[in-house]
Amino acid sequence: MELSTILAQLAPYQAQLVAVSKTHPPERIMPLYEQGQRDFGENKVQELTDKQPVMPADIHWHFIGHLQTNKVKYIAPFVHLIHSVDSTKLLKEINKRAAQNERVIDVLLQFHIAEESTKFGLDLAEAKALLEDPRFADWKNVRIVGVMGMATFTEDERQVTREFQHLRQIFQELQAQYFADQPAFKELSMGMSDDYELALEAGSTMVRVGSLLFGPRE
Ligand SMILES: *Cc1c(COP(=O)(O)O)cnc(C)c1O
Repeated sequence: MELSTILAQLAPYQAQLVAVSKTHPPERIMPLYEQGQRDFGENKVQELTDKQPVMPADIHWHFIGHLQTNKVKYIAPFVHLIHSVDSTKLLKEINKRAAQNERVIDVLLQFHIAEESTKFGLDLAEAKALLEDPRFADWKNVRIVGVMGMATFTEDERQVTREFQHLRQIFQELQAQYFADQPAFKELSMGMSDDYELALEAGSTMVRVGSLLFGPRE
């Protein structure tokens, strides 16, 4: 699909597009950049650190994959938003590496909303434990700006919608309970190539679309 087509679909929802460029080389990504796209998503640290230095410096790189604690240091100097925080330990490490780079790194809490056990993420109780951890208040170099989740891979649109609505409820509950005075907590990252329209209807502010824009992955 053309970039302009998907942007026109997102506009009425005021949702943002993260173009998921994983597996695609810079020469495949640049045409989108030249059309004005600045937000790109990658899910592997090595691939991201290979691409970042050879691509324009004003790209906002989103990290959307499972992140191992020992690899945070490689992306901390430049990453724009980490979508996949799924433990207190990881958040602590991001804070430490952000401080070393004298910056604040924005992150999302990833929730497990799908049926599949293969998908990573927190449940609500774990997220509350993280937010209520007494150390969290001292971590000044991370800022939680919302939540992220992936729906079950299924044809059943009602199930997918239910899962997205569940994530929105989690978002609203956390917003009311922990972030009421923090307008930066506003992102609901949900929706991929096969389900972004359902995600938009359920309140997504940020869709992560790969294959629909780039074609099948290499
Ligand atoms: C690969 C990936 C996407 C994009 O998937 P498509 O189906 O190609 O749009 C979105 N989110 C995450 C977390 C991914 O790993």
